[in-house]
Amino acid sequence: MELVIKEFLSRFPEAEVRYDEPMANHTSFRIGGPVKAMVIPRSEDELIYILTLAKESGVRTLVIGNGTNLLVSDKPLNMLVIKTTEGFDTVLADGCVLRAGCGILLARLAVFALNQGLTGFEFAHGIPGTLGGAVVMNGGAYGGEMKQVVTSTRALCEDLVIREFKGGENDFGYRHSRYSDSKDIVLSAEICLAPGDPAEIKALMEDLGARRRNSQPLTMPSAGSFFKRPAGGYAGTMIDQCGLKGYSVGGAQVSEKHAGFVVNRGGATFEDVLHLMGHVQDEVYHKFRIMLEPEVRIIK
Ligand SMILES: Cc1cc2nc3c(=O)[nH]c(=O)nc-3n(C[C@H](O)[C@H](O)[C@H](O)COP(=O)(O)OP(=O)(O)OC[C@H]3O[C@@H](n4cnc5c(N)ncnc54)[C@H](O)[C@@H]3O)c2cc1C
Repeated sequence: MELVIKEFLSRFPEAEVRYDEPMANHTSFRIGGPVKAMVIPRSEDELIYILTLAKESGVRTLVIGNGTNLLVSDKPLNMLVIKTTEGFDTVLADGCVLRAGCGILLARLAVFALNQGLTGFEFAHGIPGTLGGAVVMNGGAYGGEMKQVVTSTRALCEDLVIREFKGGENDFGYRHSRYSDSKDIVLSAEICLAPGDPAEIKALMEDLGARRRNSQPLTMPSAGSFFKRPAGGYAGTMIDQCGLKGYSVGGAQVSEKHAGFVVNRGGATFEDVLHLMGHVQDEVYHKFRIMLEPEVRIIK
């Protein structure tokens, strides 16, 4: 790891590198121990070079966006984290098509679309992640999902070649894309929207925001819906029907407001969340014979 960082800094002396960086500062759950190094690249050249060096040296890497779908171990992790939110947040409009970097926040992109008078991205305004993270998970809400608007993605593939993937090649499905099971990195994406009335776009964004605030525990640290939606129901409803709203292990709690969310009510550890997850899975399985799968990415 030291050699990789040294080599990287010799080519990009101004690059931002942090050592023993606590992941709790980079996750919406506010959980996660120190990682050996974090690089916050400002350009594609920096990103490609650090990934190339890491791959050549067999260093474990994790590319993150805004850390809003992550549960990270409290233990020190011998890995290199690359965070995209600083240098990859550009967006350009070409008619109804937006071309945006992977690190742009969805909220910012939605406001950009509004200012261009483009409709179709309102659903993403309240999702607190980046475009890259949302493409990986085919993020969605209130009937919208990335699949409906992302027409192509540009990626740094595992063999370190940049490729473009059009439409169906992205293999979008429920909380899934071609990136879910690969080590390819989303660099940017093309989003195709439609002309719309800015007043209506704004009203819809406000309405969805209000619905979110009314139903979700947005004032407490969490990683959003903890479990994927199982076939034939909603995880939150099943958890609620098991009487688990408010159930807690240490600082981790099944939200009293929305049983699909696990919240950190203060000082929750990685183990607290895992124990709570296991108990919820057992209870739901016992009652419904359905094994809930976490939607949150677990890093240990
Ligand atoms: C309060 C709250 C509400 C939420 N509501 C919703 C919702 O309505 N709908 C929804 O779908 N999600 C929701 N989420 C979950 C989360 O915001 C989304 O999954 C979001 O898309 C994750 O983006 P991120 O940038 O935070 O990704 P991260 O959490 O940083 O990363 C998630 C995964 O994507 C990978 N990744 C990130 N960027 C890249 C990249 N450029 N290339 C390759 N891999 C990458 C990471 O390695 C990791 O595996 C919510 C979360 C919270 C906290």
